[in-house]
Amino acid sequence: MSADRRYVIDPPPQPALAVAGSDRLFPVRRVWCVGRNYVEHIREMGQDERAPPFFFAKPADALVPDGSSIPYPALTKDLHFEVELVVALKAGGRDVAPERALDLVFGYAVGIDLTRRDLQIAAREVKRPWEIGKAFDHSAPCGALKPAAEIGHPAKGRIRLSVNGTVRQDGDLEQLIWSVPEVIAKLSQQVALAAGDVIFTGTPSGVGATVAGDRIEAEIDGVGKLAVTIAPPLRPAHAR
Ligand code: MN
Repeated sequence: MSADRRYVIDPPPQPALAVAGSDRLFPVRRVWCVGRNYVEHIREMGQDERAPPFFFAKPADALVPDGSSIPYPALTKDLHFEVELVVALKAGGRDVAPERALDLVFGYAVGIDLTRRDLQIAAREVKRPWEIGKAFDHSAPCGALKPAAEIGHPAKGRIRLSVNGTVRQDGDLEQLIWSVPEVIAKLSQQVALAAGDVIFTGTPSGVGATVAGDRIEAEIDGVGKLAVTIAPPLRPAHAR
C-alpha cells in the first residue's frame, strides 16, 4: 500500500546524480549511451570507423555514485570497464541544432559504462538487443556533475582510467568522432530529449576486463574523478 493514494505501490525512488560542491541533486530521467565514438576503440573492437554513431540505453537506476562498491554482476565472465564523459541535460527538444545543443547542458561528469562483454558480443552475433550486456544493475557508475556554468564545455582534456594503479585507458576528449553538440543533435533526431536526460558519450581505447577486488579510478581533466571497487558477486537470492 502506498502512502500516496493514487498509487497501488510506493513510487520508485528518483534516480539522481550528485552535483559537485553542492548538497543538491540532479534528478535523472533517462541514460543514453553512444556506441562507438573514438577511432582507436572502434579499431580494437574490429568495427567500421566510418559508420555514424548509434545509441543504446541503460535504466536510470543503474547509476551508482563515486565511492561505490559494485558486486561483480551475474552471468558474465568478462566484465569490462569503459571510461566516458557524461553529459547531463537541463532542457531538451527535438531536432536540436548543433549550434544550440550546448544551451541544453547542465553539466559534465566522469562515468564508466560497465559492460558484460561476453553477453554483449553473444547478443550482437545473433542480432539480439544489447540490454543483457549493457543495462544491468550497477552498470553505470557516475561521479558528481560539474556545472557547465563553472567549467564551461570541455572539448579537449585527458580522459583516463586505471585499475589498481595501472593506467589502462588514456585518451583525450578531442579524439571524440562526434562532439558533444553533434551527439545531442543526432540523438534529438531519434527521440525527444528532456531535462534530466544523461548521455554517456563513448569510450577511448584500452577497454578491458575487471575482476572482484579491483579498484578502478577514472578522471577527466577539468571535469572530475570517479573511483569504484569491484566486490565479490552477490550470493544467489535463494541461498539465504
Ligand atoms: Mn560505452
